[in-house]
Amino acid sequence: IFVDQSVKIDDTFMVEGEDARHLLQVLRMRQGEQLRVSTHEGDNYLCQIESADKGQVTLRVLEEVASTELEKRIYLFQAVPKGDRMETVIEKAVELGVYEIIPVEMKYCVVKLDAKKKAARLKRYQAIAESAAKQSKRSRIPVVHDFMTYRDAMAYAKECDLCLVPYECAKGMEATKDALTKIRDAKTISIMIGPEGGFAKEEIDAVKDCMQVVSLGSRILRTDTAAITTMSMVMLATEM
Ligand code: SAM
Repeated sequence: IFVDQSVKIDDTFMVEGEDARHLLQVLRMRQGEQLRVSTHEGDNYLCQIESADKGQVTLRVLEEVASTELEKRIYLFQAVPKGDRMETVIEKAVELGVYEIIPVEMKYCVVKLDAKKKAARLKRYQAIAESAAKQSKRSRIPVVHDFMTYRDAMAYAKECDLCLVPYECAKGMEATKDALTKIRDAKTISIMIGPEGGFAKEEIDAVKDCMQVVSLGSRILRTDTAAITTMSMVMLATEM
């Protein structure tokens, strides 16, 4: 579970509400059992249940344990797809260690959302990120950013040490091989995934000189598959 406070070895603290319900009713944990707790600062502790009563769980901090976070920060810029594909991308990207997810509005996005729908989606996206972070034992919950225009997304992505743009019309695997070698030296990596309709010519022209345009092979992948493939590639290159 994640707690919104700092803790020290031997401290006791109380968990209530949804987290307590999850521990007692879903995981069926009882007094004396141990679990991992992550703080908002990204520290991780092994804790023991001291008591559990009426929806309140008291935990004692036993020892600090290693973080499960990747050494590098991966920022995934995802063109907003139709249906529930964004939910899939968020869930899988969180499992694969993404640091931040940014939904991007691009020219050939099939869905166009008004402000009210965006606000509702954003809330749902963050809840999915939180649930995937808990399931995959992440040490922090990745942030899902507010929707961005392509222009703002480019400016934000360019702040990273390495910017990868998988492009369906990119030829050959040389740029992809080169990107794999650059991952080692980059502390922050951005990945920009295009929409169902692909990148517009002006969108790809705008990034050609300042980002690394790469191929993911000879087949056209769905936008969600492309995101998961690139995340997996960067995650494994980071862990090795
Ligand atoms: N029409 C399909 C869909 O509904 O999802 C295909 C969409 S594909 C054009 C969407 C994005 O995935 C592309 O803009 C690109 O970022 C990425 N992509 C797909 N296949 C790729 C490939 N072989 N190489 C590089 N990027 C690829």
